[in-house]
Amino acid sequence: MERKVRVRFAPSPTGALHIGGVRTALYNYLFAKKHGGDFLLRIEDTDQTRFVPGAEEYIIEALKWLKIEAVEGVGFGDGPHAPYRQSERKPMYKQYVMQLIEAGYAYYAFDTAEELDGMRERLKASNVDAKYDAITRGTMKNSLTLPEDEVKRRLEAGDAYVVRIKLPRKEEVKFHDEIRGWVSFNTSQMDDKVLYKSDGMPTYHLANVCDDYLMNISHVIRGEEWLPSAPLHVLLYRYLGWEEVMPKFAHLPLLLKPEGNGKLSKRDGDRLGFPVFPLQWQDPNTNEISSGYRESGYLPEAVVNLLAFLGWNPGTAQEIFTMDELAEAFTLDRVSKSGAKFDQNKAKWFNQQYVRMMKNEDLAIILQKVLDEKGLSNKFDAAYVLETARLVKEKISFTKELWDYSNYFFQNPTEFDQAVIQKRWKDNSKQVLSDIKSTIETLESFNHEEVEKAYLTALEKNGVPSKDFLQLFRVCLTGVAGGPPLFEMAALFGKNNTVDRIDYAINTLGK
Ligand code: GLU
Repeated sequence: MERKVRVRFAPSPTGALHIGGVRTALYNYLFAKKHGGDFLLRIEDTDQTRFVPGAEEYIIEALKWLKIEAVEGVGFGDGPHAPYRQSERKPMYKQYVMQLIEAGYAYYAFDTAEELDGMRERLKASNVDAKYDAITRGTMKNSLTLPEDEVKRRLEAGDAYVVRIKLPRKEEVKFHDEIRGWVSFNTSQMDDKVLYKSDGMPTYHLANVCDDYLMNISHVIRGEEWLPSAPLHVLLYRYLGWEEVMPKFAHLPLLLKPEGNGKLSKRDGDRLGFPVFPLQWQDPNTNEISSGYRESGYLPEAVVNLLAFLGWNPGTAQEIFTMDELAEAFTLDRVSKSGAKFDQNKAKWFNQQYVRMMKNEDLAIILQKVLDEKGLSNKFDAAYVLETARLVKEKISFTKELWDYSNYFFQNPTEFDQAVIQKRWKDNSKQVLSDIKSTIETLESFNHEEVEKAYLTALEKNGVPSKDFLQLFRVCLTGVAGGPPLFEMAALFGKNNTVDRIDYAINTLGK
């Protein structure tokens, strides 16, 4: 029988969740959804020294904002495998460490920090790779070198110890990665990692493997930085007798700097002015604030869509996907092996596409709020605001840009784009404007076709080609050089207001 797909996102609460982490969560979520499986959120907080207050809440809030919802896990409701926070699962791990020690796959080590440093110094001095391994462990204080009764005495006396995995000296560990194919490591390159400490806390490696086993995880989909840990995990499954149910591994490519030279970091975001975190984050130690996609005006659907494409593609030209469509299309074999370069312009482009898909009514609500704040609401009716939103929609990438692009709909311009004025204002411009104005004044119905006709009539009368004057006319009506279709805007401004705007331009520019 096919195994039920169960995947997990297992972040450590050591700070704000980087968008690379969000992408890992998303791919897990999509994979689960595609296969009718479960997506879990497990918090890996065994390293209490790296615990950062607020980080766990941040992770949950970010996933909820993006609708990357877990079916079980911290913040999403308990399931049959609760608790989902490793610190709360502490008592569960001891039996597995004991099992490993009894089977000869792990051992106690009593070395002090000074002794470990001493070993590293000695080895470095003789140019040998400084690690606790099959060779060096023979020179250290552990249950493989100390007499049995001393080990017993130390354990009974409550001496501090760690439990290390006992790796074979030279053994090839091979496993199949769903993205990379066959991967192999040699234990000669690895060290006897600490699995457990005498305070009863497991380390990441042990807790991670035990929990994946206990939670019936079928696929481990995680960042490439965990690839070097995978052979150790494979050995743990083997030594614990769980090889049969070992999850399949898939290591995702790194998210790279826009230039492609190295991993995308918080500093790149600061340097280039884009967020690398889903939500704004204030570091509780330094109080430093880092920007977030949410606060920068990104729509959650756009963030999901852009993250999905950082390292995966559907193999077709389609770029805009809903979450359901992504889940439908997502396969691990279309995840690339090489790193994905972050492209800030593409990120904006995605948001722009989603803003364009928003209902005009919803944009109008946002715009109305700005007008309320500015005390301009009672001058404009709902239909005016709605039509403004419709016209401006194509111009913006973020909803927070609505006001920047529409302020002249609500306030007649008092300043004019000087570059355009200098280039386009001619001796006859005042006359042309006056003629446009008087033609407009005669109009009975004031819609964009009529306004355009009036404009063309006045230009013809003055022998000025339409396109030569259009930009100047735009600047006269709006103050700025670009924007939505001009005659549609004028139709919205209305006859009186359009005439006022032309008058003001004549008086100011025609002096
Ligand atoms: N706790 C690890 C992290 O912070 C989880 C790695 C894994 O998914 O196995 O990314």
